[in-house]
Amino acid sequence: MMYAIIFIVLGFAAMEFSGWFIHKYIMHGPLWGIHKTHHQASKSFFELNDLFSLLFGSIAVLLIFLGVGELDFRFWMGVGISLYGISYFIIHDVLVHRRIKWFDRPKSSFLLGIFKAHQAHHATNKKNDAVSFGLFVVPKKYFKIKS
Ligand SMILES: [Zn+2]
Ligand SMILES: [Zn+2]
Repeated sequence: MMYAIIFIVLGFAAMEFSGWFIHKYIMHGPLWGIHKTHHQASKSFFELNDLFSLLFGSIAVLLIFLGVGELDFRFWMGVGISLYGISYFIIHDVLVHRRIKWFDRPKSSFLLGIFKAHQAHHATNKKNDAVSFGLFVVPKKYFKIKS
């Protein structure tokens, strides 16, 4: 049981940290051509940028598939990555960007902090002057300001 939890947490954390890195140095770098579709007002429901979610989702499915026989670390990391993906979808796509209108602006200070940090990321639609690349790991200042 402890074994499972450790690798679920590890999979979840690995996504936030590698996600931060990939977002900052690759998506706002060589793959800006794909990611910029997320920084522009889109006309359709899907954006080219959704390819990244598809890629991360495929990695999770692959790990679960490889590890399901023995329920080894690959399976639990796949579960952790999937939980991250679900949280990311609900917070980033639904709560912040309102691609599906399930909730209004959050009231909890934790969610409001994440919300403001990601809005700050979208304050620009350019490649080079964006801030706040993580989803959960963001500068503390966003949790302090009252509004
Ligand atoms: Zn971005
Ligand atoms: Zn966004």
